[in-house]
Amino acid sequence: MTTAQDQLHEWDRQHVWHAFTQMAEYTPFIIERANGCTLYDLDGRSYLDGVSSLWCNVHGHNHPRINQAIRDQLDEVSHVTSLGASNPTTIRLARRLVEKSPAGLEHVFFASDGAAAIEVALKIAFQYWQQRTDPKPQKTRYLAFQQAYHGDTLGSVSVGGVDRFHNMFHPLLFDVVRAPIPDQFHRPQGITPQGACEYYLKEVESLLKIHHQHLAAVIIEPLIQAAAGMVFHPEGFYRGLRGLTRRYDVLLIADEVAVGWGKTGTLFASEQEQVCPDLLCLGKGLAGGYLPLSATLATTPLWEAFLGSHTDSRTFFHGHTFSGNPLGAAAALATLEVFDEENTLQNLPAKAQLLSKCLAPLASHSHVGDIRQRGLIVAIELVQDRELGKPFVWSERRGQRVCDFALQRGIWLRPLGDVVVVMPPLAIQPDELQQIADAVRAGIDHATRT
Ligand SMILES: *Cc1c(COP(=O)(O)O)cnc(C)c1O
Repeated sequence: MTTAQDQLHEWDRQHVWHAFTQMAEYTPFIIERANGCTLYDLDGRSYLDGVSSLWCNVHGHNHPRINQAIRDQLDEVSHVTSLGASNPTTIRLARRLVEKSPAGLEHVFFASDGAAAIEVALKIAFQYWQQRTDPKPQKTRYLAFQQAYHGDTLGSVSVGGVDRFHNMFHPLLFDVVRAPIPDQFHRPQGITPQGACEYYLKEVESLLKIHHQHLAAVIIEPLIQAAAGMVFHPEGFYRGLRGLTRRYDVLLIADEVAVGWGKTGTLFASEQEQVCPDLLCLGKGLAGGYLPLSATLATTPLWEAFLGSHTDSRTFFHGHTFSGNPLGAAAALATLEVFDEENTLQNLPAKAQLLSKCLAPLASHSHVGDIRQRGLIVAIELVQDRELGKPFVWSERRGQRVCDFALQRGIWLRPLGDVVVVMPPLAIQPDELQQIADAVRAGIDHATRT
């Protein structure tokens, strides 16, 4: 390594405080450039991007179409505030989002990060009940699920339920009604896979019965709770939840920050169970994984509750300086166009099948407790004892050891505890999928041997 590279490694450790990273143990991993699904470090070593740069890259890195869209926008204007002003690119994106999303969502509030999109949804839901025509001002609370992850700002942490991340901040958080995680794999004793959906819905219903008069909204990641360890919900649970929220007059917030934008096989996860939530949050892949952009989509009844004269103070007093930034919007519009031009969603089933086939031998591995897949999201759960379903001691970091091994083979992955996650960009090619799967299999053999 040259001295310039050493210097960067040193400065990275000294000055850059990395997200979710124990800096005392951090080994710099510095990506200098990327192309397609391949990343290159300072030494020019290449790595396949097996987690789409943390669940956000869609059509690959350095895509000429998206790059050009950003450059073209750069020559027009880089930023226009959303506070009482607009620009053509952001307007066009809002229109496209309304066209593409489940029917009924017609108003788009932009922000920069997923967590901000969640804050926006929580606050819209709250304010809606305060000032709609028939107000219900006592509806001020939220129902959220165990092990939920909705971002790291204090509102999103309040609805979050990952103890390891969130317990520390408990004194700062508001209290929420907590429902059991609708986990299709880890079910309570006596609950069969077929009976799981009904069981979990009953649990939610019993909470709604008690609390609905005080609940503004239920918040959920549809189909898959990503950060919880790619926990899959029983089929039909989300649709059932929509039914319950209507029956008990509680709003439904869908957090599609992780599962949206094609990852599960359809552009929106909500499509798969024909659900239209009252509020839909998007982030991560929205601008192709290129620029920070997020959005909260709302239905017309919600929107209407905010209309009136400025003297009524019904305005949504919330904003982010870079809400709807045109560079991000240009990247998002180009990302949507590439979906059509490259038949991205049409090509997905074949890729998903190939990945499934390549990983199938793991199903009988003595240290694999479960392997689950939806679209291009795969989770492989490592266990010490498969028969007893006994987990490894968490501090042994088996999941991380698989990823360390894969990195040596030029595959970049990031685990969720002992769940090995494969979630490549949708643009991943068959030979690349094969390489990722080979590294995962070899890595699991290696990391579970002793
Ligand atoms: C990543 C994520 C968020 C937060 O998005 P940020 O852009 O990191 O703030 C919210 N919800 C879910 C489901 C996520 O995966």
